[in-house]
Amino acid sequence: MKVTEDNNILSKLPRCLLAWYDGGRRVLPWREDPTPYHVWISEIMLQQTRVEAVKPYYERFLEQFPDIAALAAAPEEALLKAWEGLGYYTRVRNLGKASKLIMYEYGGSMPSSYEEIIKLPGIGSYTAGAIASIAFGQNVPAVDGNVLRVYARVMADDAEITDAKVKRRIEEEFREIMPKDRPGDLNQSLMELGAMVCLPNGDPKCESCPLKDLCRTGKCGDGTYASYPVKAKKAPRTVEEKTVLILHNDNKLVITRRPEKGLLAGMYEFPCMEGHAAKDRVVAYIRTLGLEPLQVKKLDPAKHIFTHREWHMTGYEVRLDELASLKVKKGSAESLLMVDKKEIEDRYPIPSAYAAFAKHLRILQGSKAKRALSAEG
Ligand code: SF4
Repeated sequence: MKVTEDNNILSKLPRCLLAWYDGGRRVLPWREDPTPYHVWISEIMLQQTRVEAVKPYYERFLEQFPDIAALAAAPEEALLKAWEGLGYYTRVRNLGKASKLIMYEYGGSMPSSYEEIIKLPGIGSYTAGAIASIAFGQNVPAVDGNVLRVYARVMADDAEITDAKVKRRIEEEFREIMPKDRPGDLNQSLMELGAMVCLPNGDPKCESCPLKDLCRTGKCGDGTYASYPVKAKKAPRTVEEKTVLILHNDNKLVITRRPEKGLLAGMYEFPCMEGHAAKDRVVAYIRTLGLEPLQVKKLDPAKHIFTHREWHMTGYEVRLDELASLKVKKGSAESLLMVDKKEIEDRYPIPSAYAAFAKHLRILQGSKAKRALSAEG
């Protein structure tokens, strides 16, 4: 009986959602010209990131890398710089890898089937479903966290949505109800409902929801929506303490490149020490780099939260003697670079984990830096 009821509810979703979507979908830059490349870039940017934050990045990214060939030809550092401030940088590294593969294996055109798209680096079932359905009209679902939340609330499904098996089961259920003529629109209507109506935090707007008469847990149902979806408990984040060193002379400051692998791979940062170091330890460390500190000033502490860890940072601003740049160039500390602020804004990607220190130095990051650059012409 429950199965029949479930099927009954699911079979009614497409009609309700598509009518609602047609009546007032948001105008978004990537929706107006949904080429495979546009859908791909926007979907990758929108992972873990709000629509409003993505818009300026999306436009600039397409100006800089208008097609797959331009993306494949770009050095990784330029990709990281274009992504600066969006976070989760593996996303853009994978865009670079996938674009090269598309050039090599598919003659520069995105493959058109879900089965081929999902093999590309950085593309999982959701993104493959979005590209295949929106750009190619393939009849496949695109199920992300928003869609899972809507599903769990409508169906009062208390399975853990963080479990891959549960997600696969829900994808199969959606596969059964995809309308052949408008699969991309159905996927987008679900995404839209999750973003605008069936909100993750706070009160869902059940009064204006096109599914309110079907939904078991909404305000017209039993009102238990806050208990859905059910997620596995997250492991607590690990806390890492570090000391950030802003080393500069009157013109230039010191940055260094992070390792090729791991967190924030290939990005640039200010030199750091582990733990919260006292001033005398900082001075001794700087001398080991072959540099002479003239003045050391403690900065306000800062904190950055990643998905699985937190950085608790102490900072020092250290003025170096004028010869510092020569010493760095000579290779006294080979991984250090001595650059000016403009070079950082133009070329070197610095993660937003260091935003407080970049702000202290009046360095513009991310889309702000790009806006300032274009204002300069
Ligand atoms: S009725 Fe409320 S809880 Fe149910 S899907 Fe709509 S917004 Fe979400």
